[in-house]
Amino acid sequence: ELQLSDRVNSIKPSPTLAITSKAAELKAAGKDIIGLGAGEPDFDTPEHVKQAAMQAMNEGFTKYTAVDGTPALKKAIIEKFKRDNDISYEPNEILVSVGGKQSFFNLAQAFINPGDEVIIPAPYWVSYPDMVIMAEGVPVIVKCPAEQDFKITPEQLEAAITDKTKLLVLNSPSNPTGMIYSLDELKALAEVLKKHPQVYVASDDMYEHIRWTSDKFYNILNAAPELKERAIILNGVSKAYAMTGWRIGYAGGPAKLIGAMKKVQGQSTSCPTSISQVAAEAAISGDQNVLDPMIAAFEQRCDLVVDGLNAIKGITCLRPDGAFYVYPNIVPLIKAAGLKSCTEFSAWLLEKVGVAVVPGDAFGLGGHMRISYATDEATLKDALARIEKAVAELD
Ligand code: PLP
Repeated sequence: ELQLSDRVNSIKPSPTLAITSKAAELKAAGKDIIGLGAGEPDFDTPEHVKQAAMQAMNEGFTKYTAVDGTPALKKAIIEKFKRDNDISYEPNEILVSVGGKQSFFNLAQAFINPGDEVIIPAPYWVSYPDMVIMAEGVPVIVKCPAEQDFKITPEQLEAAITDKTKLLVLNSPSNPTGMIYSLDELKALAEVLKKHPQVYVASDDMYEHIRWTSDKFYNILNAAPELKERAIILNGVSKAYAMTGWRIGYAGGPAKLIGAMKKVQGQSTSCPTSISQVAAEAAISGDQNVLDPMIAAFEQRCDLVVDGLNAIKGITCLRPDGAFYVYPNIVPLIKAAGLKSCTEFSAWLLEKVGVAVVPGDAFGLGGHMRISYATDEATLKDALARIEKAVAELD
């Protein structure tokens, strides 16, 4: 019998990708399904970005590039970090990868030893724990309930740190909650980190631009620039510029760590796609006003979905300030349906009214579901009406 590696047996398939493909499967079989599981903008990639890629292709820019990204894209990323985040990096402190997912994968492979602990506040992006496990590290999950806006507190961080702690992962705006850490909250977390010089911090800023706070965007280095030598900032073009399929992410961090991540990448994917790198450069250094209509649409949909959900008995939903997800509490509904978990409730919802959502269990904090509102308003209204109908039958 074929024996798979212990490594692959220790991880699970991405639950969000699984829901998305399950919904697509049911749709293809002729069922009337609304998929609210996908983590990608429904908008098209901006025209000037596509044009840049086409020009690159026509000019024959279709070969391997430098492993860590083209000098032109790295320059654009360095300028972006300066412009948007007030962080200065040298070229050897930047690595371009095949999506934000590969950036974190490289980080885990380059940085985590067997038994090293990585603190991951829950609810978390589904891939962090599994990528840590693949690197033989130990994910230390810290539950952050709705009462604290799904954010880790300094007290929780302090309590979770041990001699084995190597890394803290922060993600703001958050997938799956849309919550954003304020500058003061980041400062308080930084105070704890300063007391523990062995702990590094990964800031996943993937949803930086998808935000409707009046405040500026802040990450941990804005709160504590002195942490720069132990901070790694992860970002990418996938979500902000509706470029999920182009597969470009990037990281900024200490040269030694970035160099090690580059070594991992050089033995796995070689380099990101040449054409996509030109497209990403156009996105990052081009007109940023192209983001405005997308952000305005997300904000409007956010209101629609939050209000719609809160109007349904048994659902309580916080109002996020960013990303394109909501993470409502559905504990009363799980009980009313006589079910045991939000995973069972999600299956029930799909079966009953054809609405696909991702259960909170996938993100490490059950009793909730994640709804992605990266879809048009008519579809969202239809989905809300269906959820209401399903729930009404529970009385
Ligand atoms: N980080 C977060 C928080 C995400 O939600 C995602 C995508 O779902 C990623 C990183 C990775 O994005 P990509 O690999 O598509 O660039």
